[in-house]
Amino acid sequence: MAKEKQIDIKKVVRQHAEMDMFFTGGFGLKGDSDQNAQADSELPETAKATSAEAAKGLKEITGDINMCCRCSLSSSRKNTVPGEGSPSARIVFVGEAPGADEDAQGRPFVGRAGKLLDKIINAMGLKRGDVFICNILKCRPPDNRDPRPDEIVKCQPYLHKQLEAIKPQIIVALGAHAAQTLLETDKPIGKLRGMFHEYKPTIKAGPIKLMATYHPAYLLRSYSPENRKKVWDDMKKALTELGMEIPAPKPAGQSK
Ligand code: URA
Repeated sequence: MAKEKQIDIKKVVRQHAEMDMFFTGGFGLKGDSDQNAQADSELPETAKATSAEAAKGLKEITGDINMCCRCSLSSSRKNTVPGEGSPSARIVFVGEAPGADEDAQGRPFVGRAGKLLDKIINAMGLKRGDVFICNILKCRPPDNRDPRPDEIVKCQPYLHKQLEAIKPQIIVALGAHAAQTLLETDKPIGKLRGMFHEYKPTIKAGPIKLMATYHPAYLLRSYSPENRKKVWDDMKKALTELGMEIPAPKPAGQSK
């Protein structure tokens, strides 16, 4: 029994090292170079104005979220987790709901799944600050249970407003809850991922392309080289759609 456990732990450690290498050592990390982060001061005047307007809109939405008492999660939360990132992000990542770490810090994706998301974003040649990261629910469900339909219905207007303010070119829905909520479907994530769908924010605004992929927490739980590759393939499609370069694989150890 003890031996079996030891073998399992070794296997898990090896798998995590492999995933780590894939999303860091295996790909060029441009995250620390400033190639992708265009400082606001470098933007053309019209883009600056749009970015400032989006920032103002996001600030107002955050204020509303911080005071929200629309559902019972407001009484169990430590902090709201509105989301964070660039108001002019071309990609918005949408997860399910804050966990314990996020609830404690008031920031999205800061726990184990968040560390993996950071690696995926870096492997794409981006920094966390280049994108916007948020969730379907802005407050933590107790014991990390699944979001309930009534909570989703009450919280969804905040996400819709955030997406309307940012107007990203691509939404990446992380996991079944995000994909099913945004696409108003009950199809399984395995059937939704890997292709572009259309998210329609309002009647006025045009549709936004949505790529669904596995949630990083699922990747951590159900690691396999196949699942890892599927996520990377989905992210490559997102980069291609944006006309961005796909970082070339580099031998491990040459990326930093
Ligand atoms: N999982 C999510 O879906 N969102 C977070 O913010 C953290 C973990």
